[in-house]
Amino acid sequence: MPLNLASIRQAPKALLHDHLDGGLRPATVLELAEDCGYDGLPAADAEALAHWFREAADSGSLVRYLETFDHTVAVMQTPDGLRRVARECAEDLAADGVVYAEIRFAPEQHLERGLTLDEVVEHTLAGFRQGEQLAAEAGRPIVVRCLLTAMRHAARSREIAELAVRWRSQGVCGFDIAGAEAGYPPTRHLDAFEYLRANHAHFTIHAGEAFGLPSIHEALAFCGSDRLGHGVRITDDIDVPGSIEDARLGVVANYVRDKRVPLELCPSSNVQTGAAPSLDKHPFDLLARLRFRVTVNTDNRLMSDTSMSREMLKLVQTFGYGWSDLERFTINAMKSAFIPFPERLRIIDDIIKPGYAVLIG
Ligand SMILES: [Zn+2]
Repeated sequence: MPLNLASIRQAPKALLHDHLDGGLRPATVLELAEDCGYDGLPAADAEALAHWFREAADSGSLVRYLETFDHTVAVMQTPDGLRRVARECAEDLAADGVVYAEIRFAPEQHLERGLTLDEVVEHTLAGFRQGEQLAAEAGRPIVVRCLLTAMRHAARSREIAELAVRWRSQGVCGFDIAGAEAGYPPTRHLDAFEYLRANHAHFTIHAGEAFGLPSIHEALAFCGSDRLGHGVRITDDIDVPGSIEDARLGVVANYVRDKRVPLELCPSSNVQTGAAPSLDKHPFDLLARLRFRVTVNTDNRLMSDTSMSREMLKLVQTFGYGWSDLERFTINAMKSAFIPFPERLRIIDDIIKPGYAVLIG
């Protein structure tokens, strides 16, 4: 089967790093703004709004990039808003051929209209369940789990860690720390990570995106992160003087590779935020060839105007990957998922492998 957007959409895919507030449909943002009386949107029709989001994310200005989330978060403050956004997220991913997704969001950002943290989680999970059901009825089954994010600059991480543990048997599979890296090292949140470790809970940390190796080192050595959100800057610890066979890895890079620490790479987003200079200079291929556990992710589908299939297609076009490479990246992601081992195995053996076998022919 030739590799193109349509055929990649048919391939089973697993997604570990996708922000709920970064993946809304533009039309939904408009309708929810109308419903909840939010009049701050920068455009009045879906096409213009989509364009605005893309442009702001591409502008190279962090202030403008962060402003995009003000608008999406503003329309996700009610039970209906949260349910609808979560439901549509599951439906959109399933329609794109994603069979397993871990979607993250920060409950503390959805309290403006009086919901409690638990209510925010409850309504969001209900939306995911509904989306899973609709996707299954449409013949595109998907399993959606949720990661609860705490914001690096805030001081609620312990509370959010407790929330994640409280809801873990009901659709929450882990915890994450996000937000500006500079000035807010993950070690500010050690009590949250200690609580999670004491409760055998899984977590990932946004590290090595804007900031270099020290944030990766802290996330692993002091916090005990299971995965790295992006982790692109692990390349700061890799020296490639000539061919890849001669690559020299430092202590941190060796640890990440030896321990099979999953890297949640998000090609389009990494270029937009400057974590990688361009797609062809993205270290994805270097890391894949050095056999790090690389995974392909979307980060913010609305802001990057992307999908899992588009991210994979970009990698295929840039680095010449074939179906077996895409299968490997997908199995990498599934092995790294925060759900129980038998469930991971079931999706790999019953869905991913047979799916790619058909495409490989
Ligand atoms: Zn992210």
